[in-house]
Amino acid sequence: MSDHRPPTTDDLLRWDRDHVWHAFTQMQEYEPLLIESGQGATLVDTAGNAYLDGSASMWCNVHGHRHPRLDAAVRAQLEKVAHTTNLGLSNPTTVALARRLVEIAPPGLTKVFFTGDGSSAIEAALKMAFQYWLQADPPRAGRTTFIAIGEAYHGDTLGAIGVGGVDRFTAMFAPLTFAAVRVPSPGGPCPHTGRPAPSLAEALATLDRTLAEHRGTVAALVMEPLVQAAGGVLVHPPGFLQGVRELTERHDVLLILDEVAVGFGRTGTLFACERERVTPDILCLAKGLTAGYLPMAATLTTATIWNAFLGTHAERRTFFHGHTYGGNPLAAAVALESLDIFRDERVLESLPPKIDRLRVQVTRLGGLDHVGDVRQCGLVAGVDLVADKASRRPYPWQEQRGTRACLTARRHGAILRQLGDTVVIMPPLCITLDEIDRLAAAAEAGIRAATVG
Ligand SMILES: *Cc1c(COP(=O)(O)O)cnc(C)c1O
Repeated sequence: MSDHRPPTTDDLLRWDRDHVWHAFTQMQEYEPLLIESGQGATLVDTAGNAYLDGSASMWCNVHGHRHPRLDAAVRAQLEKVAHTTNLGLSNPTTVALARRLVEIAPPGLTKVFFTGDGSSAIEAALKMAFQYWLQADPPRAGRTTFIAIGEAYHGDTLGAIGVGGVDRFTAMFAPLTFAAVRVPSPGGPCPHTGRPAPSLAEALATLDRTLAEHRGTVAALVMEPLVQAAGGVLVHPPGFLQGVRELTERHDVLLILDEVAVGFGRTGTLFACERERVTPDILCLAKGLTAGYLPMAATLTTATIWNAFLGTHAERRTFFHGHTYGGNPLAAAVALESLDIFRDERVLESLPPKIDRLRVQVTRLGGLDHVGDVRQCGLVAGVDLVADKASRRPYPWQEQRGTRACLTARRHGAILRQLGDTVVIMPPLCITLDEIDRLAAAAEAGIRAATVG
């Protein structure tokens, strides 16, 4: 039924609307944009228009598109094998990556479980934590509760939304999920509800009380360290992470840190938890792991947890969990090369001036008439659009001001994504100072256009 003429751009735009069900997208209102190529921090569409990649292709691109070394790493692995399985056998590239991750992770995290995306890194962590207590010495059954932070986002599979707190994504699925116990986020007033945030001391006191109330039933506390990205770029006060680590230790509860968004340099250090010298019991990595090239995630843990799963097959202590493409060698090859680039190109050392420049620009955006709060940590920032600057009164959410700002920013040469009425600026780490200025100018044009009237 199909002829052999190559599809035209118009065909593709039509087929995109007709057949592709886009993630987190209202398809009735979807405006197609076909990105055909990229280079550095720039993306190019099928009509030849260039855009700065202001969302790092959904927060995962690190060193830019078409980095020659990353491209070469994938090609070199293709010369060997594209995929084998890690169910009961292994591959040199995947083993080398596990070793590298252990070397760079906070001390004590020596075991690596590979999956395919951030949500599945979290699912593995939740099941690992639950099963750990059943098999710990002595075993502690009844550890069925997870504690999570308000406005948290840990992915969209059922387990992950059980510990998530962004209600507009997950509320309808409540009947299908287990409900975590939530404690309020100290990361600034909730941009969606306007609820004021507790202070650092209040947040930790609430957590202490919650842990005491649920004594003996909590498997783990799950949280995004330093910045709750999808919650609206909510930045925690310094000391919160360390306080949480102390409380989880005191109450004998595991700490799962979700560095899916903040890992790999986003906050200025390789991992966010380094900033407060915290080692979690379980660390989840994804997005930036392969520098934005291929799907891969990793759940790292300690020898203590691993040991609880050891025994003969007949003892039934095995972690019966895993995904077909876990530990994929092509993804592992590009992840290894990305870590070499971090070292060879001194990527972390290059960040402070960029972070400073983003701060200057975001502060400037904060002066616009319809911008309320702005928040930044490292190379991620959130800019809240508000109906009234003085009172921070939000726009009616139905007006989709954030979406409109981002769509207009496209016409000014930048791809940005909103979270409700928060415009998020999260470029690849390779972005230049000049590109940060251009990105902010496009964001400003979008914000101005979306907030008239
Ligand atoms: C994106 C994200 C996830 C989910 O990752 P996916 O790869 O989309 O499944 C989990 N946690 C955080 C903090 C994230 O930002």
